[in-house]
Amino acid sequence: MRDKLFDEYVEILKEKKIKLTDVRLTILKCIATRKHFTINELIAEIEKETKSSVNVMSVYNNIDMLLDLHLLFSNTINGKQIIYEAITPQLIHVKCHECEMFEHIDSSSLSQDLLSQFKKIGESINFELDHFKLEMHGLCNNCRKKLSTIANK
Ligand SMILES: [Zn+2]
Ligand SMILES: [Zn+2]
Repeated sequence: MRDKLFDEYVEILKEKKIKLTDVRLTILKCIATRKHFTINELIAEIEKETKSSVNVMSVYNNIDMLLDLHLLFSNTINGKQIIYEAITPQLIHVKCHECEMFEHIDSSSLSQDLLSQFKKIGESINFELDHFKLEMHGLCNNCRKKLSTIANK
């Protein structure tokens, strides 16, 4: 499934007549195979793959290009760290207030339900919905346990 994604990305770049450099191919592989990644993780991956040091500016430029092509989403965690991931039509994240937890909810039925709801909202304001991204904020199980032990002391 994920390999298919990689092939799709390659096709999109070819169509746009964008040269498929080693760096670009590695970035596409990262997007296709990893759930979340940071720019530093990406740079490490490119250096491992190409066995040479990489121009950080060019990585940023490539990221910008992929954001423009709508192949990539960027998420900001805690207003600081940016993590990237493949664009999907319906994306639901769960984020914990206390720890680093930032995960996906993979429920296609929930996504479909929400999609039709959001489409209706869109229609009511004359807006055609393409995709949505949702972030749920709260406390994860571990942090809830930790906080309740502190409270009970
Ligand atoms: Zn937590
Ligand atoms: Zn995600």
